[in-house]
Amino acid sequence: SGGEGRKEVKSTSFTFEQIGGQNRAKQELIEALDFLVKRDQIEKLGIRPLKGILLAGPPGTGKTLLAKAAAQYTDSVYMAASGSEFVEMYVGVGAGRIRDLFKEARAKAKKAGKSSAVIFIDEIEVIGGKRDGGQHREYDQTLNQLLTEMDGIHGNESPRILIIAATNRKEMLDSALVRPGRFDRHIGVDLPDKKGRLQILRIHASNKPIDESVDLTGIAEQTFSFSGAQLESVMNEAAIYALRDNADSITSGHLHMAIDKVMLGEKSDKETSL
Ligand code: ATP
Repeated sequence: SGGEGRKEVKSTSFTFEQIGGQNRAKQELIEALDFLVKRDQIEKLGIRPLKGILLAGPPGTGKTLLAKAAAQYTDSVYMAASGSEFVEMYVGVGAGRIRDLFKEARAKAKKAGKSSAVIFIDEIEVIGGKRDGGQHREYDQTLNQLLTEMDGIHGNESPRILIIAATNRKEMLDSALVRPGRFDRHIGVDLPDKKGRLQILRIHASNKPIDESVDLTGIAEQTFSFSGAQLESVMNEAAIYALRDNADSITSGHLHMAIDKVMLGEKSDKETSL
């Protein structure tokens, strides 16, 4: 998920096929992205250029993955940032960072010979939360800078910038951010259903020796309300249990222990990944 900030600029070729479930979100996103891909046609028809897409939904459901796949689909360079990176004690620093982010994205696209750049901003609510009468003035400047940058995006400029933002708390966003011409495409990214969970489990099982006796459909049934990130954890923890057992493959027993562990609290997961 977020947090890694702008270090994560490697041109990962990550595709929609590597994202399990989320069929509706993928379809809606691809439809929106086709605006960027077919930009000559869009311009001829006088359609307002697409500037911002908002991905809204619970943590760990694949919003970051969708943004990466969007960059790949549109043959764009990818830059990632998190709303919390722009929160600084000193007025103006956050705004400066926003300016730099856009500058950097344009430079990176030019250098790579690409005609577009996708800027992913995770936790957008941190900078784009509802403004409350001057209480958080330094945030205001940051948000204003983002709005200015968005207003400055033109359909015919090169490189073309598309901003994809993610939030778990859409209701908190300032209305200035979600009005037409800004983040006006909203795509819900929900917890996966059973079929989605099975697909996600399969994706994360693909590089692991799973015992023949394992019924992944059953595991998908038993992981109701798990997010993609939690399912990834289940697979990883199961592999760690297998290692502890000195087993060459992951059994249902390992998977069940992993489910319990992830259910009990995934806080310690990251630290136990050996
Ligand atoms: P956050 O809101 O916490 O930033 P997010 O919605 O951006 O979360 P991701 O960072 O995309 O979630 O997902 C975290 C990890 O969980 C991914 O790197 C991947 O391993 C796994 N994952 C999540 N959703 C899926 C999915 N739909 N298919 C496959 N893997 C997934």
